[in-house]
Amino acid sequence: MFFTHLRDQLQHLESEGLLRYRRTVEGHHGTHLKADGRDFVSFCSNDYLGLASHPLLVAAAREGAELYGVGAGASHLVSGHNKAHHLVEAKLADFVGLPQALLFSTGYMANLGVVTALVGRDDALFADKLNHASLNDAALLSRAKLHRYPHLDMRALGKLLAASGGRRKLVLSDAVFSMDGDIAPVPELLAMCERHDAWLLLDDAHGFGVLGREGRGALSHFNVNSPRIIYMGTLGKAAGVFGAFVAGEKEVIQTLIQRARSYVYTTATPPLLAHTLLKSLDLIRAESARRAHLADLIALLKNRLRLEHWRLLPSQTPIQPLIIGESRAAVKVSAALAEAGILVPAIRPPSVPQGTARLRISLSAAHSTDDVERLVAALHELVKSNLTAEDAEEA
Ligand code: PMP
Repeated sequence: MFFTHLRDQLQHLESEGLLRYRRTVEGHHGTHLKADGRDFVSFCSNDYLGLASHPLLVAAAREGAELYGVGAGASHLVSGHNKAHHLVEAKLADFVGLPQALLFSTGYMANLGVVTALVGRDDALFADKLNHASLNDAALLSRAKLHRYPHLDMRALGKLLAASGGRRKLVLSDAVFSMDGDIAPVPELLAMCERHDAWLLLDDAHGFGVLGREGRGALSHFNVNSPRIIYMGTLGKAAGVFGAFVAGEKEVIQTLIQRARSYVYTTATPPLLAHTLLKSLDLIRAESARRAHLADLIALLKNRLRLEHWRLLPSQTPIQPLIIGESRAAVKVSAALAEAGILVPAIRPPSVPQGTARLRISLSAAHSTDDVERLVAALHELVKSNLTAEDAEEA
């Protein structure tokens, strides 16, 4: 019975074009990779600066293993908090310009930890409808009253805040939206929070390392700062390593150390990763040429890709979504590109709203202009073929 039920569910996903598959990458992860025995140029990764396989980071990881071993052995509050964690927390706080920072194992865990530690039953949350799943899950887990506002709609947010009788009010927003690539109006969000005595949790998973002076992220990009901001950055994307951090006022960080369950009840990340992150932060800061090259690639893609039926969303970030529409059509285009040796993921509901299945083209400083030209040529070629003419109608 149980298995029949699961089988039915899986069959349903398959018939809707929603079943997900994993490719097995062999060796290094990068813009050029080998997967399932074939060579590909990949536009899948969040390694925006091309640091994930940087020789200096590989050397730092090796050095970290020599210095600290492999496992942390315990949670931070028991005996897992290591000098390497401590050093990178101080460096991260300084880098983003906030008083204190705290490392988490992943961005998903950071969002769960922050929201559930800071709000509860009598409080209210205000969330952009296109926020990342981890913020949505955190909101449900917190038991606070959840108000979702239409994407980037500051008027709607203002009305909800004004009408709320919540004891504490916390606004949740991606800084760069993970499936659309657009940037939240952080100064306006902050002004709303000030007007309505609310706090702002800003998830900068896709802005940290990419936006702002020296890659310091969304706060630097907008030149804003405030004690009302709780900033979450991830370290497995542009930073090329693993993990996440939350930065904010000392009282906030102290509260997280005491009460964030995804911090307290989990083993600390291996200190060797914290050691590697120290090097990664140096590279992020120093290698602005990577950000400049990335900006050139974004401009190149936007200029060169001219398709009648499929449009790129108006994103200025390395996340360049090409809207296809129907899930099966998006999967078909992604499969046809893979056939041509180009990996671009098809993103389908529930990750994105119904009818907006897309190719999420993700650019990296490790791409060459030739890589981008190859993708553009392959997409133009596909549009000419019968396969996609049919799909364009379906879409
Ligand atoms: N927030 C956003 C906006 C994300 O896109 C992601 C990861 N895709 C996360 C949080 C979770 O980060 P992590 O992968 O470190 O768990």
